[in-house]
Amino acid sequence: MAATLVALAACGGSGSSGGRPNIIFIMADDHAYQAISAYDDTLITTPNIDRLASEGIRFDRAFVGNSICSPSRATLLTGKFSHANGLRNNLHVFDGDQQTLQQLMRDAGYETAIIGKWHLKSEPTGFDHWQVLPDQGEYYNPDFVSDAGTERFGGYVTDITTDLVIDWLDGRDDDRPFLLFYHHKAPHREWWPPIDGVTEFHDMSIIEPDTLFDDYEGRGAAAASAEMRIADHMGLTNDNKITPENAARLGHQPFMDWYDDAYRRQYEAYMNDEQRAAMDAVYGPINERFVAENPRGIELTRWKYQRYLQDYLATVRSIDDNLGRLLGHLGELEMLQDTVIVYTSDQGFFLGEHGWFDKRFMYEESFRTPLIIRWPGGVEAGGVREAIVQNVDFAPTLLDIAGADIPADMHGRSLKPLFAADNPDFRDAAYYHYYEYPGIHAVKRHYGARTARYKLIHFYYDVDEWELYDLRNDPNELRNVYDDPAYAVARAEMTRVLEGLQARYGDSPDAARLALEADLAEER
Ligand code: CA
Repeated sequence: MAATLVALAACGGSGSSGGRPNIIFIMADDHAYQAISAYDDTLITTPNIDRLASEGIRFDRAFVGNSICSPSRATLLTGKFSHANGLRNNLHVFDGDQQTLQQLMRDAGYETAIIGKWHLKSEPTGFDHWQVLPDQGEYYNPDFVSDAGTERFGGYVTDITTDLVIDWLDGRDDDRPFLLFYHHKAPHREWWPPIDGVTEFHDMSIIEPDTLFDDYEGRGAAAASAEMRIADHMGLTNDNKITPENAARLGHQPFMDWYDDAYRRQYEAYMNDEQRAAMDAVYGPINERFVAENPRGIELTRWKYQRYLQDYLATVRSIDDNLGRLLGHLGELEMLQDTVIVYTSDQGFFLGEHGWFDKRFMYEESFRTPLIIRWPGGVEAGGVREAIVQNVDFAPTLLDIAGADIPADMHGRSLKPLFAADNPDFRDAAYYHYYEYPGIHAVKRHYGARTARYKLIHFYYDVDEWELYDLRNDPNELRNVYDDPAYAVARAEMTRVLEGLQARYGDSPDAARLALEADLAEER
């Protein structure tokens, strides 16, 4: 079976690309696996992403090394964890002079392009074509930056990003295979939905996660002190689309000063009159009901959760719809057979689990990321993989698909051995290190290791706390068993695993301390 698949892959591809497949690497921003029906159909159905999964392989244990936007993107481009590529938090600037995946692919004869979200502050390097959103980008009428300058496009960001991808595919000469990064802004906060899909989820009663009202008992200080609770830290205005005037009238103060400004920026500065009128028709009645009902306490949290998910899922819908449009176009171009399509996110996201939105923690919902690879003849159709894989593997995998050498200093390894069949021994444990603290959302610095069964986390800097979870018996990570004598053997083993990972990748508690000092010095 494995030999057949590899043979098919090796001879797949028609003429012009010299037998090597094109690669479209789709990265959404903050797209939780809980909001992809190939993983879980509780919240939404995503037929086009599901098609990739049914015609390809779905990874159920794909993890990131540092669960926020810019660090994940730097890891994609380098195949290295944050401590080695120099980009540890969202404030850092990516050093585009270092060895990158796109330059290596170019050296191997691939045409390289990125369209959509970039979020690495420095100008893209190593691409034949780049057209990216400045910083986070905007949902409506967004600017795109390229080497020709800045251009504003009318419409919705997910549609426009896809239009630009299709235009690029139509306009390129096909004497080389290509690597295209098709990177969405959606479904990033503040979840402004497309005008034509804004109401799809409004009449649903969206199922609440079991841990929406988590009290964080049985865990350390980090979970309790994080500032990402829907109840306390989500914005009624920018996040939930209540006008600042209505929120103030009911006595609600924004958790952070910029929340109301963010609402006004999107609503007043970026939307045009037509879009604003369409949104008023939808959000106006929601505002009226909110003022009339004036929910408080638990009822307010429930209301905010529903509003959050309604808009989040609508932005996911636009991604899935546009993927369908792209797949249709690839069909017309007769490129579906010879193109590897990867679907992933820069990390996972909390959709109310533990009462949270956002990411950052090594807890499952943010640490895990969706990963699907479709390659007709190159991967098993409909396969599911439980091997532990990480985003450091993306660069080695794409180089391997291209037949290029994988540099020895990359931390990841090619996933190609998993294309034909699963292998539970592919990797013993995933490594994690999060740095952005002090910082927005107040998630403490931590590093850790996760095996198939256990997860060990060390929170450091202004605390010194260890957490150990038995994921088999406690999949929601509600009971820290680090000091439970029954888990003494597991604790010792996981401590050894974590030290082994740090030694292998060149990270350590001392390196963490130096990174902390450097980050604090930059802030001063
Ligand atoms: Ca992100």
